[in-house]
Amino acid sequence: MPTYDFKCKDCDKDFTVQVSIKDKSKVVCPQCGSKEISQRFNRLNIGGISAGGGGSSCSGGSCSSCSGCH
Ligand SMILES: [Zn+2]
Repeated sequence: MPTYDFKCKDCDKDFTVQVSIKDKSKVVCPQCGSKEISQRFNRLNIGGISAGGGGSSCSGGSCSSCSGCH
């Protein structure tokens, strides 16, 4: 069964669930029970950000285009 990473829009909790794709829409936040969650995708596939960066790599003032700095 595949795993998916989600982020809760209500309490900002990041969590991973193991669920079949047909039940993915039924996933709720394990912390607050909210259905307002968004799926997160592997950060390594976004842009040219080096793996392991924690935000300090964006000190050049380009954070407006960096999805990892919010
Ligand atoms: Zn939540």
